[in-house]
Amino acid sequence: MSGGIGSFGAAKHVADQHGTDNMVLLFADTLVEDEDLYRFLGDATAHLGVELVTVRDGRTPFQVFFDEHFLGNSRLAPCTKRLKQIPCRKWLEANCDLGDTVVYVGIDHAEQRRIPGVVKGWAPWRVEFPMADEPHWAKDRMLDECRKLGLVPQRQYALGYAHANCSGVCVRAGREQWLLTLEVFPERYAEAERQEQRSREKFGKDVAILTETVRGEKRPLTLAELRRRYQAGQIKRRRRKPRQLALSDVAA
Ligand code: SF4
Repeated sequence: MSGGIGSFGAAKHVADQHGTDNMVLLFADTLVEDEDLYRFLGDATAHLGVELVTVRDGRTPFQVFFDEHFLGNSRLAPCTKRLKQIPCRKWLEANCDLGDTVVYVGIDHAEQRRIPGVVKGWAPWRVEFPMADEPHWAKDRMLDECRKLGLVPQRQYALGYAHANCSGVCVRAGREQWLLTLEVFPERYAEAERQEQRSREKFGKDVAILTETVRGEKRPLTLAELRRRYQAGQIKRRRRKPRQLALSDVAA
């Protein structure tokens, strides 16, 4: 139960099919989630009538990067493993029976390419992906169904984010999402920019969260440089068709 709409959709689906008596909603807290994601988790778990079990490593993504002397990026993000997979796996090993437990993950049809890696990562636990099965629902459909239940989805979606995790500063996000964060949460962007610069100084390397390809050569693109180009009007955001918004989605 990451707090994303896919994980809620999966939880709802499983609850409808199997009931909630043996259901656990497991949330790995990265300590940097948007405040409205925590609000949604409270509303969603109350709706399902299942208590949320929270596990945490105790570090933030950037603390992991400093500890590992490696800046997470779109290709490799050690924060996922340290802050989510390991704490969840430890909880499973301590509290569940391997032969009698199914781990449900909220990956949807559009993200199906991630499934083999997730199955491999969770082995030997049995993993299922209810939202990747038919009928195939896009995120907008999941958000609509969520509203029909009387729940207000996480505000990140209404603000234009494709994913609700790590408050818009996920290191796996692409350039477009970083520009969105620069527009809607400039203070979060500024903090990520500061931490990226600290990593470069501490590691003594030309590293960055983003990369760009120049004349066929891949090279780091820092958040400072991306911001400079954006503010100088050299690059623009691609405006996407807004999601079907409910005004209440942005009220929080
Ligand atoms: S959502 Fe992004 S930044 Fe957060 S833990 Fe996962 S990969 Fe790291």
